[in-house]
Amino acid sequence: MDDQSQTEKLAKPILKKKAGTPGRSIDVFAVQCEKCLKWRQIGTQDEYEEIRSRIQEDPYVCEKKEGISCEDAGDLNYDSSRTWVIDKPGLPKTPRGFKRSLILRKDYSKMDAYYITPTGKKLKSRNEIAAFIDANQDYKYALLGDFNFTVPKVMEETVPNGIISDRTPKTSKGSN
Ligand SMILES: [Zn+2]
Repeated sequence: MDDQSQTEKLAKPILKKKAGTPGRSIDVFAVQCEKCLKWRQIGTQDEYEEIRSRIQEDPYVCEKKEGISCEDAGDLNYDSSRTWVIDKPGLPKTPRGFKRSLILRKDYSKMDAYYITPTGKKLKSRNEIAAFIDANQDYKYALLGDFNFTVPKVMEETVPNGIISDRTPKTSKGSN
């Protein structure tokens, strides 16, 4: 339990999405600087996953971005102009050729993770991945342990107005 809450606090890397994006997928990747706490945009998912996988041993700081220091303004602010989802640090980098996808549910309650194989197949569980690798010797290099279905936490305060009230059961009239 203690371990769990500590992990949550360390959740520096973040993925976030723009409210109202049709596919409800991630459209911007950002990481928070360990020193100044500003958010820095990360160009690609690959680069982001690399940072996320090593962030506990190698904390992120502004200087890692070329020509940038903590003196420079942040690339983006944590506010409700977008919906933010906070990732768990240390998740493995997706094996070469595969792609990890996250889709936000319509009611913004949570995200769902799946992997796209190099052959374009969508896999939704560890079992499906094991079966795929078993049947396709070309992808033996992909380690089962490098597939992870842990999804980022949707930050409720950044969910657009109206979404949360829509999913609250209408029966409770709020007696406090
Ligand atoms: Zn900084």
